[in-house]
Amino acid sequence: MPLPSASLYVHIPFCRKKCSYCDFFSVTNGEDRYRTVLSEILHQIKYFLVSYDFPRIETLYIGGGTPASLPSDILNRFLSDVRNLIPRIHSEFTVEVNPENVTEGLLQILEQRGVTRLSMGVQSLNNNVLKMLGRNTDSERTLSALACINRHWPGQKNFDIITGIPGQNMKEALTDIKSIAAFDPDHISLYSLTFEEGTPLFLKLNSGNIQKLSEDVEITMYEASLNLLESIGYNRYEVSNFSRAGFESIHNMGYWEMKPYFGSGPAGVSTIPGTSGPVRVENPKNIDLFLGGEEEKWGWVYEKIDSPSFFVEHLMMGFRLVRGIDVQRIKQVFSVDLQTIFPRTLHRWKPFLQQNGRFLALTRNGLNLLDSFLSDLLNEFDPSNIKTCTWP
Ligand code: SF4
Repeated sequence: MPLPSASLYVHIPFCRKKCSYCDFFSVTNGEDRYRTVLSEILHQIKYFLVSYDFPRIETLYIGGGTPASLPSDILNRFLSDVRNLIPRIHSEFTVEVNPENVTEGLLQILEQRGVTRLSMGVQSLNNNVLKMLGRNTDSERTLSALACINRHWPGQKNFDIITGIPGQNMKEALTDIKSIAAFDPDHISLYSLTFEEGTPLFLKLNSGNIQKLSEDVEITMYEASLNLLESIGYNRYEVSNFSRAGFESIHNMGYWEMKPYFGSGPAGVSTIPGTSGPVRVENPKNIDLFLGGEEEKWGWVYEKIDSPSFFVEHLMMGFRLVRGIDVQRIKQVFSVDLQTIFPRTLHRWKPFLQQNGRFLALTRNGLNLLDSFLSDLLNEFDPSNIKTCTWP
């Protein structure tokens, strides 16, 4: 089925060391499988391109895992092969890097292969925090990576920052943000630490070795961090994402706007149109299954997404945006009017909502209560109201 355009995410499932808070799929002992996995990823990308015949690839995002942890000759070759398959990327090409991988040579490779945006998980410049997070770097190494990027990287840059770390106080959190922002990124993703089940940090928490910040402290810290970022010129455009004007992440906007995307590589997920409505196709979080290749359909798990569930996904993504959810688009895709199907919730939340043209958005205070708002919407939701879905 021809699509107007689509985005592509590539998951490189390798890391040098596993961070203690991370539940993304990656392995640390994969050296002997770098080449086979990358070659299978290329094969899968080719399959997507041929099966769907896109007039254009909107954005390409290579993440993981740590793509930049691959040896430079292997990474260079892989990026070159990807570009042979996709010579033209319409609006954005991002690659994730970590401080311990950044060298002038790496940045040159990325630039030569047409990468337009680099995204680095900085997380913190405080050694206690980096240690708590189990990062494979320290403050000195991270500062030198930031300086190297500022000297040698001509493209856009995003830095990820995490706050709400056990033992962290407000002053430390704000100092961290100021020091990282001093390297002048175009975009900052600011997250509050979450304890994902099964991670070493989660186990430490459960065994009482560390203590979570209280919810009040965590919220106050996030609010102060947000104010700081806004005061130095970063606009919040999504719950956890901030940018200078015009530097929003186009790739991630695609997720929040529920545009079609392909995910290649172990753990990569696609949301694409099927023969009778949207489908989700998940690559396994297992390298051996993925290497079964096209013959075994890469171990895919298919799920046909029913219209009511897909509608709920649109709500959960759309209300994350400061701009709000596109009410006209909802009407076009699901033939429903939000006011008609959520009269009680929209009335009750009126003080926290604002209509800006075709967008219905939570106010700044409302966005802090996003989870409660979504839960009220879901409580009022009657799936029988959603009968059709014309997507994308
Ligand atoms: S480097 Fe990134 S993907 Fe790898 S373990 Fe750390 S946070 Fe997870």
